[in-house]
Amino acid sequence: MPEAPNNTDAPTVGLVSLGCPKALVDSEDIVSRLRASGYRLVPNYDQADLVVVNTCGFIDAAKAESLETIGEALAENGKVLVTGCMGAKPEQITAIHPKVLGVTGPHQAEAVVASVHQHLPRPHDPRLDLVPPGGLKLTPRHYAYLKISEGCNHKCSFCIIPDLRGKLRSRPLGMVLREAEQLVERGVQELLVISQDTSAYGVDLGYQADFWREREVETRLYDLAAALGELGAWVRLHYVYPYPHVDRIIPLMAEGRILPYLDIPFQHGSQRILKTMRRPAAAENTLKRIEAWRAECPDLTLRSTFIVGFPGETETEFCELLDWLRAAQLDRVGCFQYSPVDGARANALEGHVPDEIKQERWERFMAVQADISAARLKRRVGGTEWVLVDEVDDDHAIARSRSDAPEIDGQVIISDGGQLEPGSRIQVRITGSDHYDLFGQMLDRGN
Ligand code: SF4
Repeated sequence: MPEAPNNTDAPTVGLVSLGCPKALVDSEDIVSRLRASGYRLVPNYDQADLVVVNTCGFIDAAKAESLETIGEALAENGKVLVTGCMGAKPEQITAIHPKVLGVTGPHQAEAVVASVHQHLPRPHDPRLDLVPPGGLKLTPRHYAYLKISEGCNHKCSFCIIPDLRGKLRSRPLGMVLREAEQLVERGVQELLVISQDTSAYGVDLGYQADFWREREVETRLYDLAAALGELGAWVRLHYVYPYPHVDRIIPLMAEGRILPYLDIPFQHGSQRILKTMRRPAAAENTLKRIEAWRAECPDLTLRSTFIVGFPGETETEFCELLDWLRAAQLDRVGCFQYSPVDGARANALEGHVPDEIKQERWERFMAVQADISAARLKRRVGGTEWVLVDEVDDDHAIARSRSDAPEIDGQVIISDGGQLEPGSRIQVRITGSDHYDLFGQMLDRGN
């Protein structure tokens, strides 16, 4: 265990580092972060409030030594977190030592520190802490974006994000859930799950098992959605590609555990264009999937984005897109005219569409969608809906229904909501609609 100064009465952590220099560097990262967040490091088990064992899983002898050290730490101290190479297969550890508090894999210093925070909380000290628990947020207090991964494994021909941000790197589920819990404790009413490819969450970690609320969860989309659904906030999923396993999420929406809302960037309705775009799940019969999802969850709101004027897009293919749009009857839609991004592979494609045709197609697209949107909103007039208040302005409030993400979707204008507070969740009666917004009145005013 590392030597440590003992000049504070902060909670104490012991760390046992096994294995190669790479593991030692990980240990240094962990102790640096622990020191920076106010923990004191101690050199033996009996002085420590909690022990971290950084394991080695390279050969059988190293695994045996790791398991023996974990056993020793449990016997001598009792509060043990395990990390490092052996943590890549947590069942190898939990099968022998079921009492460990948590297991993380190699190079996961941030997750280790988050686990230490969870099992050995250090009281928030405004003199030391420059940021509140859960970090600084630039959103209003009542909603927050929850980033679950960085990077992307796809190669869509119009996009350079994988070149800029690299391959998919998911955050272990326990870490994401602890951040979500802290946000909800701070008053956040709505969690917006974001990434480049939410459906791929956990693929890069082999759906690694993690711990949360003393149970095992897997780093995968279903477990993420189900666990977030327990926190009491609205949970909205963005950037979901229609891979087959997305079907498993729909029942969680139908049961009201997460919002019945899917933001799926379909981008086009023509199979040929989708293939030249190299879109994930391009071969899926998306109209059939949409039909099945709506049969299972009739309240489902579908949001999407599209590109018109992609290189090589013919008038026939554009009309295919309009037909697809009419058939899909999506609730919320954004549309962009294709514009070349420096470094994107699509720039080399033949048949760039002239700007005036792009503009004309964009207008036709928007006109079709405006009629769909108006008709779908009109069906909601007369009903009652839960809304979340974003702003209050003199005599009225501006809120969002479960169908509306902030910034990109519509609003619900509450004509008698001048007394409400931002962040309140209330029920309103919907009294009117236009192309993109709803109008309503508070229910407790005799409506
Ligand atoms: S557009 Fe394609 S390549 Fe770009 S981030 Fe999304 S899925 Fe990945």
